[in-house]
Amino acid sequence: MAKYNRIVLLGPPGSGKGTQGAILAERMGVKEISAGELLRAEVKTGSDLGKEIAARIDKGQLVSAELIVRLMTQAFLAPENANGFISDGFPRSIEQAEIFDKIENGPEFEGKKIDLALLIDVPDDYIKERILGRSQCAKCGTFYHEKFKPTKVAGVCDVCGGKEFAKRADDTEETVVSRLRVYREATAPLIPYYENKGLLVRVDGTGSINAVSEKIKEIVGY
Ligand code: AMP
Repeated sequence: MAKYNRIVLLGPPGSGKGTQGAILAERMGVKEISAGELLRAEVKTGSDLGKEIAARIDKGQLVSAELIVRLMTQAFLAPENANGFISDGFPRSIEQAEIFDKIENGPEFEGKKIDLALLIDVPDDYIKERILGRSQCAKCGTFYHEKFKPTKVAGVCDVCGGKEFAKRADDTEETVVSRLRVYREATAPLIPYYENKGLLVRVDGTGSINAVSEKIKEIVGY
């Protein structure tokens, strides 16, 4: 089986990119680099840039292509990611992919090109339930879902014992609708884009967390 080191995850919001990306990254011994997490980290600093980003995220809109390409390129080239990475949430539009392609063809990415685009396929009906039921430990950041991944003891984080849980500010019914629209209009065209490059594989993302990660293992080898 081919060996993949640099994988881009594609799929609608709520398809499980974050969850499956973390499992896959651990198996591969690399980091998951989440575009959304990088942006939320900037928002937390309270900087002017953070405020601009928050305004976009809260409406479910994409931030500027130049900004996210810059942040992700930096992360891809960081020494700690020299052996590979999983990219969750980038690229998210053809514009981003084309800007990144030019950079990827430069000398810094010699031998470090994206070698797989893994599409986690989930029909629209699943998405609202998956997004609206999720929360995150306020202390350590572990993600949970009230139905699909509850804590073992009600109200207590399995990992750190924290008792406070937070929902993402953009995980609201209103924002989900615009995030889905953005996905269909801006992100879904990346499916044929990566298909044309011969990099695309699809996995059915509708089963349990375990079932999907086993399917990914069959396809990717990890
Ligand atoms: P996520 O955590 O992947 O669901 O992303 C949350 C939000 O961050 C998105 O709805 C966008 O507002 C923003 N975002 C994440 N990734 C990107 C990207 N590649 N390009 C532009 N905006 C992004």
